[in-house]
Amino acid sequence: MNNTFSLDKLVRPNIMAMEPYSSARDEFEGSGSIYLDANENSLGSALDSSYNRYPDPRQNGIRKKLSELKSVADNEIFLGNGSDEAIDLLYRAFCEPGRDKAVIFPPTYGMYKVQASINNTPVLEIPLNSDFSLPVEKIKEIINPSVKMLFVCSPNNPTGNLMPKSSIIEVLKDFKGLVVVDEAYIDFAPEGSSMINEIKNYPNLVVLQTFSKAWGLASLRLGMAFAQKPVIDILNKIKYPYNVNGVTQSMVLDALKAFNKKDMMVNQILSLRDNLVQRLKSVSLVEKIYPTSANFILAKVPMANKVYIELVKQGIIVRNRSSVLLCNNCLRITVGTEKENSQLIKALTNIKIKVPAI
Ligand SMILES: *Cc1c(COP(=O)(O)O)cnc(C)c1O
Repeated sequence: MNNTFSLDKLVRPNIMAMEPYSSARDEFEGSGSIYLDANENSLGSALDSSYNRYPDPRQNGIRKKLSELKSVADNEIFLGNGSDEAIDLLYRAFCEPGRDKAVIFPPTYGMYKVQASINNTPVLEIPLNSDFSLPVEKIKEIINPSVKMLFVCSPNNPTGNLMPKSSIIEVLKDFKGLVVVDEAYIDFAPEGSSMINEIKNYPNLVVLQTFSKAWGLASLRLGMAFAQKPVIDILNKIKYPYNVNGVTQSMVLDALKAFNKKDMMVNQILSLRDNLVQRLKSVSLVEKIYPTSANFILAKVPMANKVYIELVKQGIIVRNRSSVLLCNNCLRITVGTEKENSQLIKALTNIKIKVPAI
């Protein structure tokens, strides 16, 4: 247990002191037959279907279903407009602009740094070890009271590797700020890899997940944050009142009932991924495939910028990560359909790159 953690000391004083907006739907929660409290259009919508009512600001339906699915209490769940909203709100709640710091571990997801810049939060960058594992000892050396948050991405984007739970727990025990573990790809990792059931043990742990990847609902924009109630209460206090729109809420509720379809797609993607790895290994251009626990593969090729352009010429778009720390000459390839993967392999096989003699 982390006994020295104090949320009151971590939150920005203005956030601690403020009164949140109280919407019409906050002030009357039961059910009436006539709603004249929110200045909505009582006649309907400028569409055939009705969208004239404000959505549930607390997303009670989704949180109830999620709490069963994830075995956490519904008051330990925050829902936002993508996980990106949760990342933004975490900075705004906990980092005094221009003063408090965050730590990231490159190469990693770009949004941690972008949101920090918007919030004028200085970011300390501690590179991952060369095998992409967490630099636990360096973390212990560098953290000080001005550091409020660490962002650990697991499985990590763009490298694909899962960070061992033991290394994250070591950091959780040592650090008095928040450890944000971004699990956007956790459904593709072996069962039991998630940190979500550690929430009860660590008041400084925040786990992020999303409907954008395994659930196949990127367009709906729904992200989740899981943490103990005091942290979740702060995020809910500062979010936009109706941050998750009604269409998203009703579609995601349907998806949650069909979670077996998600599981089936995950299994299918995992077998497509393993097959793609095997086929990539037989392409002479491919120098190295990094181990992955996600729905993408990091591959090393000679002159990645050229390979990238050659693929684009054939209409195949991958992510060029060549300029990213520790990812020299690396392309990040999302697992596609059987047919898309075959076309990728064919295209790579046809690319002729002359590697200059050293
Ligand atoms: C794709 C991705 C997300 C998802 O963000 P949303 O805003 O929920 O779509 C979050 N974190 C990482 C590391 C990702 O790669």
